[in-house]
This record gives sequence, structure tokens and C-alpha cells, in this order.
Amino acid sequence: MASPDFEDGFSAQKLFNQGTSYTYDDVILHPYFIDFPSEAVNLTTHLSKNITLSTPCISSPMDTITESSMAATMAALGGIGIVHCNNKPSEQASIIQKAKSVCIGFTHDPLCLSPSDTLRTLTEDSSPSPYALITESGTLNSKLLGILTERDFFSVNDLETQVKDVMTKVPICTSSKLSFDEAAAFLISQKLKYLPIVSDDELLVDLLTREDVKRMRGFPPSSVASSIGEDGKVLVGVAIGTRESDKERLEHVVKAGANVVVLDSSQGDSIYQREMIGYIKRTYQGLDVIAGNVVTAYQAQNLIKAGADGLRVGMGSGSICTTQEVCAVGRGQATAVYKVASVAKDYGIPVIADGGIANSGHIVKALALGASTVMMGSFLAGTEEAPGSYFYQNGRRLKNYRGMGSLDAMLKGSDARYLGDKSKLKIAQGVSGAVHDKGSILKIIPYTMQAVRQGFQDLGVSSIQSAHDRCRSGALKFEVRTGAAQVEGGIHDLVMYEKKTF
Ligand code: 5GP
Repeated sequence: MASPDFEDGFSAQKLFNQGTSYTYDDVILHPYFIDFPSEAVNLTTHLSKNITLSTPCISSPMDTITESSMAATMAALGGIGIVHCNNKPSEQASIIQKAKSVCIGFTHDPLCLSPSDTLRTLTEDSSPSPYALITESGTLNSKLLGILTERDFFSVNDLETQVKDVMTKVPICTSSKLSFDEAAAFLISQKLKYLPIVSDDELLVDLLTREDVKRMRGFPPSSVASSIGEDGKVLVGVAIGTRESDKERLEHVVKAGANVVVLDSSQGDSIYQREMIGYIKRTYQGLDVIAGNVVTAYQAQNLIKAGADGLRVGMGSGSICTTQEVCAVGRGQATAVYKVASVAKDYGIPVIADGGIANSGHIVKALALGASTVMMGSFLAGTEEAPGSYFYQNGRRLKNYRGMGSLDAMLKGSDARYLGDKSKLKIAQGVSGAVHDKGSILKIIPYTMQAVRQGFQDLGVSSIQSAHDRCRSGALKFEVRTGAAQVEGGIHDLVMYEKKTF
């Protein structure tokens, strides 16, 4: 399509050079001519110089967002999870190993007991498990001996009875080599409620339940390729800091199979990041390093020149973040993404728009402004895959979500991200709270990506690359929305309504 020969709307260059810091809700994109279906939109993108993803989504390295379940599921959906570092290096390494061994759809932490445990162990919990798998050591990765279900222990009154005396010995099980669909078909054909999954050497590795099968059937089939590394396992990223001790941490996590490293600082343009990038590049050839966070072209250029393979953009845009209030620094996220992406593009370095993503429209805007991927905390908080248990408050099912700069998180060690490790006085740059139960990302991500494809179709761009090209050429048109226009763009003038996204 030829460009129109009249002026209507602003190019990004014109809009973002007026001295105003804009965020996603401040701006709106103009639609353009459509000559393809939304299914034709390809969201394949670059996480960093050498890593390609088929879904432009990343889960944030926060201790209430990314551990093994989130990392494995994000990768299965074509994105990637970055495992947080608010833990010991050995714990971070074992999260990576676990993520790489997770088979999506299965119950990853089935209750295991040893033969000498008593029925009391099973029932003493406030919400007793309806089953237990009995292994030699009472843990996963040990020889499977039996299974205990309500049918076995329902009529036994003596809670001191040992499980070995009531369990069903040598239960039907299946091989870990089967795919989810194959294992599900076997469970159904055998009319089983629980199907233990064992390795070639008969060690228990997972469990498939009838509930798992029902749950997976509720999710839309994923049409994108999973993120798989050269090791044949899912791609997993890790966050580390920039202290001397982080070099040792890095050794652990690389051995565990980490595929990309994110240097986790709220203000990344520092001597510490420059030195760490240099160290990693010298020591681990072929390992991509994502540096940041940055919000200005100058910061971006410094980290790119130091050797960064990707940049994380955002300062003060996070939903749990108080940096702009406490430190008076940062930038509106739309302006930050555009400015950093503009300079990073010159060097071929992909940019991650980190923080402030609350809906699919924000993702469309971030990608249109030059980001190659978005990193999300709050959007994924409260999902089944996020770490932590659900709890009830005022009848609502909630999960905790906290900033890594909240006092709670910093007490566990995350203050290094805020360069506060040497200071005796800890100043919070984030808050700790809770979000409601959002279900599984197996549903949220595919639906959100379809909404993003529809946004791209409306813009008349069929890929992230062509969105970037049109933004750079000035053909993509933007405008600022007044407060009234933002109200008009939301739901209004209804006495009541129910907002269902999908
Ligand atoms: P969200 O997606 O919730 O809007 O933002 C998540 C992002 O906020 C993270 O990826 C990270 O960059 C940033 N972040 C996480 N915790 C904190 C915090 O305590 N303070 C600040 N300033 N930023 C945080």
C-alpha cells in the first residue's frame, strides 16, 4: 500500500520528541488497510541476539512469578521464563533443572510417602490429599512401590496403620516417554483416576490424574512452536546480580542448563553491569546476556557497547514499583520503549518492554513502538503456574504478588537489584500485595496472543518486524489521548456489566 499524501496523526519520532513522557494508555495507534487474516500474523521474534521465540512473552524474574512451573509452561507456549535469584545458587539451579524436566499437563509435585509412613501423615493436613504414591524413599525419583487412594484407606479407622499394609501394590503405571496425549488416552482406556509416570529404571517421575486430563482439555490448542534449546529441553533464562558472588552463582546455573542470563538491576547503566557483561562474554562463549534496566538512549548505547545481547527497558513502570515516587527517576514506559528501541535497532539488539503490561493492547503498543518482547509480572501473577499457594480473603481466591524491591523480598536478599546491599538502611522501591486467581497461563497466553494478532491486523502489519519497519519509517501513526478520550476508549455509561476477556 502506498502511504497517503495527506497528514493525519503523528509518527512516533514526532510524538516522542516533544518533551512529554508517555505511557501506554496515553497513546493510541491509527488503524491501517487490512489485506490478510489475523491468523496470518506471525509473532515470531528475538529475545536476544541469538535466541528466537515464537511468542513474544517473558515471565519476570520475581520470586512470586518465575520458578519451575512458570518457566516450563512459558517455554511450552513459545515464550520463556526467567528464574529469579532471590534464593541460594543451588536452589536456583534446581529450579532450572526441574523446569527442564517438567512435562506440561502432569501433576509435578505428587504427594509421595514411604512404606513405613502411617495414615496419619496423609490425613493430618487441613485439606488431606485423596491419594499418595508410595516410593522406596518417600520422594519422587525413587522406585514406585504402590498407590494409596481413598478406596484403600476410607474404611481404616486406625491412623497408626502403615501405608504399606493398605496400599495397592504394583499399580498400573506408564512410561515417561509417552506424550501427554498418549498418557491421557491410556488413563482413559484403563478407566484410571491416577496414573503414575515412571522412568526407564522404574523411578517415579510424575503423575497424571483424571482431573489433569479434564483441565488440559479446557485449554485452546497452542499453534506455536515451543521454545526448545540445543539440549532438546525447554529454554530457561536466569537472573543474576552483578556482585562477585554472582560469578559463582552463574557457574551453578549454567551447569544446570540455563540458556540465557539476565542481569537484574533496576538501574542497569553501571560500572557493575559493564564489568559483568565483559566477564560473562570472556568466560561463557555463546551465552547471551541481557542487560538493563534502562530507559534512555544513552544508557542503552553504553550497555550495547559493553556487549549486551539484549536490553530490558523500564524504570518505575511496574505495577508493584515505587521507584519514581521514592527516587524521582524513571520514564513513562511508551516513551522509554520507543527511545531505547530506536537506538538498539541501529545495533541489531532486541529490546524487552518490562513492566506495566496490563492488557493485550499494551502488548500491541509495546511491540509497535520497537520492543521485540514484553516481560510481565502482574499479568501472570495469581496464575496456577506462579509460585505460592492460593488463599482466601473476603471470599476471594488470591495469591501473593510482591515487588523484588519490597521490604519483604529484600529481607530475603533481593536488595542487590536496588544497589542496596552495602547500606544498613533498607529503602523499599516496591510493595507487597496480592492478586486474584487468574487460572492457568495455558489459557491466558494463547488468548492474549490472538488478541495481539487482531491488533496487528488492525494496524495492517503481519509481523513484529514489519511493525518495527513501519514505526521507524514514520508510516505508523500515533496520537495522544486526552483524559476524556481515555475514558471514552474504556467501558462507560453502563449501569452494570460483566467484563469477560475470553
Ligand atoms: P508488572 O508486570 O507487574 O507491571 O512489572 C514487573 C516488573 O517490575 C519486573 O519485571 C521488574 O522490572 C519490575 N519490578 C519488580 N519488582 C519491583 C520493585 O519492587 N520495584 C521496582 N521499582 N520495580 C520492580
